[in-house]
Amino acid sequence: TSFNRHATSLSSFKRKKIAILTSGGDSQGMSACVRAVVRTAIHYGCDAFAVYEGYEGLVRGGSEYIRKMAWEDVRGWLSEGGTKIGTARCAAFREREGRLTAAMNLVTEGIDALVVCGGDGSLTGADRFRQEWPSLMEELLKTRRITSEQLKGHEHLTIVGTVGSIDNDMALTDSTIGAYSSLDRIIEMVDYIDSTAMSHSRAFVVEVMGRHCGWLALLAGIATEADYAFLPERAKSPLVWEKELLEICEHHRKQGKRKTVVIVAEGAIDNELKPITPEIVKDLLVEKLGLDTRITTLGHVQRGGTAVAFDRILATMQGVDAVRCILESTPATPSYIIGVKENNVCRFPLMESVQITQSVAEAIKNHDFDLAMSLRDSEFSDHYENFQILTLGDVETKKAERPLNLAIINVGAPAGGMNAATRSAALYCLNRGHRAFTINNGFSGLVKHQSVTEVKWLDLDGWTMKGGSEIGTNRSLPEIDLGQIAYNFQKHQFDGLLIIGGFEAFRSLKQLKDAREFYPAFRIPMVCLPATVSNNVPGTEYSIGTDTCLNMLVNYTDAVKQSASATRRRVFVVEVQGGQSGFIASYAGLITGALAVWTPEHPMTLHSLSEDMEVLVDNYAQDQGENRGGKILIRNEKCSQVYTTELITDIITEYGKGKFEAREAIPGHLQQGDRPSSIDRVRAVRLAIKCVKFIEESYDNFSSSNSSFSESAFESENDSYDTRSINLDDAAVVVGIEKGKLSFTDVDHLWENETELELRRPKTRHHELIHEVSEMLSGRLRLLGKR
Ligand code: ATP
Repeated sequence: TSFNRHATSLSSFKRKKIAILTSGGDSQGMSACVRAVVRTAIHYGCDAFAVYEGYEGLVRGGSEYIRKMAWEDVRGWLSEGGTKIGTARCAAFREREGRLTAAMNLVTEGIDALVVCGGDGSLTGADRFRQEWPSLMEELLKTRRITSEQLKGHEHLTIVGTVGSIDNDMALTDSTIGAYSSLDRIIEMVDYIDSTAMSHSRAFVVEVMGRHCGWLALLAGIATEADYAFLPERAKSPLVWEKELLEICEHHRKQGKRKTVVIVAEGAIDNELKPITPEIVKDLLVEKLGLDTRITTLGHVQRGGTAVAFDRILATMQGVDAVRCILESTPATPSYIIGVKENNVCRFPLMESVQITQSVAEAIKNHDFDLAMSLRDSEFSDHYENFQILTLGDVETKKAERPLNLAIINVGAPAGGMNAATRSAALYCLNRGHRAFTINNGFSGLVKHQSVTEVKWLDLDGWTMKGGSEIGTNRSLPEIDLGQIAYNFQKHQFDGLLIIGGFEAFRSLKQLKDAREFYPAFRIPMVCLPATVSNNVPGTEYSIGTDTCLNMLVNYTDAVKQSASATRRRVFVVEVQGGQSGFIASYAGLITGALAVWTPEHPMTLHSLSEDMEVLVDNYAQDQGENRGGKILIRNEKCSQVYTTELITDIITEYGKGKFEAREAIPGHLQQGDRPSSIDRVRAVRLAIKCVKFIEESYDNFSSSNSSFSESAFESENDSYDTRSINLDDAAVVVGIEKGKLSFTDVDHLWENETELELRRPKTRHHELIHEVSEMLSGRLRLLGKR
């Protein structure tokens, strides 16, 4: 399940002394990771320590640098940027002598296990430290710097890495803590540049971080519709890249685009390893294309600000798992890094991850760029291919043998990333030589106004960056007039349909499939791409729009909390959307440190309400001096008909007896709007292109009676595809990410087996464990004495 590992019963494990340090370049979310490690350790009855100033603090030692942490010490750290315990580059730790002193300091404090949150350099150091540990102990004992008594129980050091780095350069894990926050800073800045570039019809060359890793540059390129991106892993000869760059920019301009954006990773090089600087790119654009070109170097802005929702979740769940991993480890278990694979928290061997990471840099040094690319994770190569398709596309993409007419429709409430999905699906079609049509304003738009538009390249310009739905969306279902809809499908000779939306999109897919019997126009491949803030479509753990929504809630609650702590003693009851699914509420609870989260799955009762009051009273009683702050409670809009947000607010104020009071905070439709987050943009692009490829491949199947199409067509392209329960010559499927894999699942299968129809939600809920962790880390369980 997403971000979840099932907790083993840890009560039987030895209580340990667990320390955490942050090292290398800081990144957003490191403080949240420290908070999670400290609180989880304390929750399991362990002692928690923070080593200040990275390895430097470990080498210096003493109580100034190695500090025991109390529960309250990390209050509010979820919303802190950078790292609150400091970080440093430490030359001494690179030498054995430094590591020897560090080892002595750890043993002197009796620390059993170390969590290192840092980039590949820091984790390389950690790996080395662990390998050397027995010999360090031997030397310390021999030189009498520690006693054999002190050594007892410290023959092995348990080390766990939680990867914190904005570069996202660590092998095996899809994402490192801080990478998406950094990406968000970049796209925000490029979005700003966008309007001035458009006004003046200018070109901008934007330099972003990434010495050996082009992840930030590549994803920023996708999320901002850049024309070209330079990555260290994909170095090309000057002849090739110059030709490509100029051709693409010129071609886009000729089609009417008024701006040009080129992203350059700081480590961009050509195939001879010669740096490609923004100045070189600029000069070329000026000289050869006559473009008025400016350079923007984003610099440290990219490390700045607080963590986005995803990084808060990642940092928190990784911190929790790091402690669990330590408690479960034995001298025989290898060191792990805690990472994430397609939304799933996973453990990977530290040594292997470090080795692969280093071999990327090595491959680049050896000019072996194919190897460098292949060593990046599967998502990276997908993203690269997609960027190529969307930018080089119309110049170079291989044309489809059989041109198709593809229809795209948005159904349900708007969600961040819907436009990016619509655009990339349409653009992919155009670049492959298909025709793309948008059905405007949902099924009712089709029935009432026959509103269908054939999309042209320039129409799609700038959609990725826009919230809402450019083609219009509503909740109407095909059942309003199946005949009319079939007539229009036939009129435009649609060969495939992409439905982007929430639960109604899923329902629409089912209705169209059921109607195939009577309307041959519906006998075409159809795919539903889940896009809804509620994340309640069966067949996926993630839907487009949830990330944008969570980010909005993070910003909203941060602001509300600040106001609450300014006025002291104020509790905010934040009402969030989600229908009958507690997904958004649970995640919002986790990343805002809410003291109570009420969802349809965990509704409020008289008993739980009195517990909530107890929690608030106790929490305020412990809340002294500087720590006094605002409290957040999260209520899902549909969790109870009786206990409305207003009623709860009144009850709390009444119960607070002047010691504290409550206010309602309802962000409402803000949750669906706003700028789409970087995650929703890039995932929308990735999933939408997969959907169209799926339609392309299954189309042949529909048209040929002796269907020769087999699952292997998908497997050959991407061996991690899961095509569960699909009847391949009858495809009507939902695309999703499930159990760490991309999947296409038959709508009938989902409808019959995995849906709670009346409640409009899937049977499997992916946020149960989030709820548990949230209760643990907010201190709710502690306050209720439920350790
Ligand atoms: P970023 O991703 O921001 O660059 P990083 O963790 O890779 O972070 P580095 O400066 O490479 O940052 O490493 C941080 C610290 O880790 C170093 O200052 C050093 O103390 C330690 N370290 C790095 N490499 C090694 C190594 N090979 N042996 C021992 N210690 C190391």
